[in-house]
Amino acid sequence: MMTNTEIIKSNWIRVNEEIKKAADLAGVKVPKLVVVTKKQPIEVISAVIQSGAVILGENYPEEAEEKIKFFADEHVEWHMIGNIQSRKAEIIAKNFSFVHSLDRYKVAHKIDQKVVSDGKLPVLLELNVSGEMSKSGIPAWEERHWADLLRVIDEIKQLSRIEVRGLMCMPPFDPDPENSRKHFVKLRKLMEFINRQLGMNLDELSMGTSFDYHIAIQEGATFVRIGTAITGERK
Ligand SMILES: *Cc1c(COP(=O)(O)O)cnc(C)c1O
Repeated sequence: MMTNTEIIKSNWIRVNEEIKKAADLAGVKVPKLVVVTKKQPIEVISAVIQSGAVILGENYPEEAEEKIKFFADEHVEWHMIGNIQSRKAEIIAKNFSFVHSLDRYKVAHKIDQKVVSDGKLPVLLELNVSGEMSKSGIPAWEERHWADLLRVIDEIKQLSRIEVRGLMCMPPFDPDPENSRKHFVKLRKLMEFINRQLGMNLDELSMGTSFDYHIAIQEGATFVRIGTAITGERK
């Protein structure tokens, strides 16, 4: 019988091999792996870190803050990937080194005011490319949204303590990962569009989870966010 730690380690190795294989086949750079540890206990996160993970992704600021304190001596980066409420801006600015899920000027402004480090906090803008109403993200699924989208990004990019690096999306779950492809393609094309229209150099695309990361890599993901394929199911 394998222990839970051994299972996580072997998942970690397998997922990394699959990421590399998918990137090689697609002729793209190997994306950075964010291991998503939301709702996972300390023992699971220890096993993930021991396996070699260097970027951990969390969704809930208070839960994350406790874990970040606990693992303060480890050389890992913590990325915020979950839906952000503006009253959590301070916890986020003080604990995370990267934010994937910024989707409103109000939140961006509040985080900007709370950044304590000398450098700028790198952020990605979460876009809703699928049109599913329950999902967070700046509306971007139809051309009629794009003028507003450009205006919001232009405002966020004026903030002095955060630095917009790219885009993120979280399409609705679909048992057939092929159905995520159109959303990933749209995110990539929107990044090119934003770069042209606003003279920016965005180059990070955070897309793909345990179910569809192979497809996301084919479509240019520079970050994949993978939880259960490595950690096992969440409690
Ligand atoms: C939970 C979560 C993931 C990881 O999903 P898995 O199915 O566990 O791989 C990725 N991105 C976001 C935004 C999430 O909330």
